[in-house]
Amino acid sequence: MGMSSKRPIIVFLGPPGAGKGTQAKKLSSEKKLCHISTGEMLRAAVASGSELGKRVKETLDAGNLVSDDLMIEIVKDRISHDDCNPGLVLDGFPRTVTQAKALGTMLETSGESVTSIVMFDVSEDTVKARLAGRSAQEGRSDDSEKVQLERIRIYREQTEPLVEYYEKAGLLKRVDAAGDVETVYTALLKTLHQS
Ligand code: AMP
Repeated sequence: MGMSSKRPIIVFLGPPGAGKGTQAKKLSSEKKLCHISTGEMLRAAVASGSELGKRVKETLDAGNLVSDDLMIEIVKDRISHDDCNPGLVLDGFPRTVTQAKALGTMLETSGESVTSIVMFDVSEDTVKARLAGRSAQEGRSDDSEKVQLERIRIYREQTEPLVEYYEKAGLLKRVDAAGDVETVYTALLKTLHQS
């Protein structure tokens, strides 16, 4: 990262509770990259009571995915802003193969492509323990146990195919996400510097 003139466009993949959000915040603030958390954008829309928020609230509360068309539109608009010029950390997008293809197309128009995909590897037990801790701390309305299980199921069904999709493209790197924040961050930096 930062070795070539290309701006970094980094995609974080992994199940809910893998720690993507925490690592994305840390990486983007330390490397001055634009952190794009689609989940945070949607939760902010719900909290503000905007039209978008009203449209997505039920979907979020049920742990389902918002439609590809809407997500693609939101991300396309977001990455066109100047604060994204230094580079992107995409946290929570793409989440389907359709979104991944659309991201590729968006970047192609500026002669770019994703520079790294990082898969946060973590066991199902760790994921469940972390989600339980998070719902206690943050009181996220989509973090009841039933919804958590649904989000894990949907991850397996809709998002996990992206691992193979990006593996085929030779872009996928794996980070052991079982450790504490600092340990995982150190492993993340090491992985990114290998690119
Ligand atoms: P997250 O904070 O990334 O776990 O996202 C929270 C919720 O926002 C998800 O459970 C989905 O309902 C919705 N969401 C976030 N990103 C996407 C996306 N790329 N595609 C569809 N739905 C999304």
